[in-house]
Amino acid sequence: MIVVRNVYYFCGKINTMQQVSDIVNRLSYSKTFVMSNKARDLKAQGVDVISLTLGEPDFDVPEFVKEAAKKAIDEGYNSYTAVPGYIELREAIAKKLKRDNNLTYAPNQIVVSNGGKQSLINALMALVNEGDEVIVPAPYWVSYFEMVKLAGGTNVVIETNVENNFKITPEQLEQAITPKTKAFLFSSPCNPSGSAYTREELAGLVEVFKKYPNVIIISDEIYEYINYKFKHVSIAEFSEVFDQTITINGMSKAFAMTGWRIGYMAGPKWITDAVDKLQGQMTSGANCIAQRASIVALEADPSEIQYMIESFHKRRDLVYDLLQDVPGFKTNLPEGAFYLFPDVSYYFGKELKGTKINDADDFAMYLLEEAHVATVGGVSFGDNNCIRISYAAAEDKLIEAIKRIKEAVS
Ligand code: PMP
Ligand code: GLU
Repeated sequence: MIVVRNVYYFCGKINTMQQVSDIVNRLSYSKTFVMSNKARDLKAQGVDVISLTLGEPDFDVPEFVKEAAKKAIDEGYNSYTAVPGYIELREAIAKKLKRDNNLTYAPNQIVVSNGGKQSLINALMALVNEGDEVIVPAPYWVSYFEMVKLAGGTNVVIETNVENNFKITPEQLEQAITPKTKAFLFSSPCNPSGSAYTREELAGLVEVFKKYPNVIIISDEIYEYINYKFKHVSIAEFSEVFDQTITINGMSKAFAMTGWRIGYMAGPKWITDAVDKLQGQMTSGANCIAQRASIVALEADPSEIQYMIESFHKRRDLVYDLLQDVPGFKTNLPEGAFYLFPDVSYYFGKELKGTKINDADDFAMYLLEEAHVATVGGVSFGDNNCIRISYAAAEDKLIEAIKRIKEAVS
């Protein structure tokens, strides 16, 4: 019956383009990839573009992790893995969560996925019904907003700004909660602002959450190790909210394994069971070789990757200092991640070399065209005033990029 109907459609009665679902039509392209593709296209045309778009460590994967992957291939790891991941990997994740975060999870409370990105959409799809609200503090990572839409939810955005270091207050949180609130989704350290919540700040939010045990906290901690100021704090460490928290993490940022696609979540068993069911129908277990290598990576002492963090720290200081000399840029000193998120609203309504600047996206486009420096405008991060600069790039490129930006606005 279905086959007959498909044949009928494809005989020309309906234009196949018109069959794209409403969900996809409502979705935006990921702006981080749009801008990095633009930079790549310009480079291919011979333009000397410096791309500070993608949040991607510019380091090689540590040698011991590569060795583990090669060994896994030689040892014949080829087959489908368990849907939530190899038990040895989930045990290694449980040990890591205990070692680094003082969190106690059983392996059946952990699901490994194709990157933190899949862990996030898994969590939302496992929880959200049509019309449920998900609170998302802005600036948020671009994909959060679109993922909530994909899951059928409604985004409730809490605004922050550079003056308050892009952090929300307990009062703002409480005001945003309604009977329809299903989840709260945030990253700390934050992409794009780099802000990280301290234990005291999280304690303030926990005071609110504990009054609403049905609100699930989705805590994206993928930049956990990239914190220059204090040891990372997981919100799940607060026993009052442990049972309502999902912790998301992954290998991309800590081990420079972006293309290896391994992320994970840990949370209440009723949620990980639901995610296991969902993932079993959608993608199955993640790549087996990358999973074996991740076991070795997670069992290693975090000091093994300290050189990358030290290098990001140096670059943060470098770019932050250089930006102090760029007129019209207001920048917070972020505690972590590898982004700066300067407020450039000073330029709105003004003309720069004949180009009218109306918002942060116009400004980012102007920088690309005039300075050949690619950044990402803040609009798709839920902030119209700022642009995101990823400083996961070589120091000479960073120095040259800020010099060009300065010239373009002078
Ligand atoms: N969360 C945040 C805040 C991110 O910046 C990213 C981007 N890489 C991800 C999750 C997803 O990373 P991945 O899918 O590579 O694990
Ligand atoms: N998370 C990175 C970024 O924000 C990679 C791109 C993406 O996944 O959107 O740039």
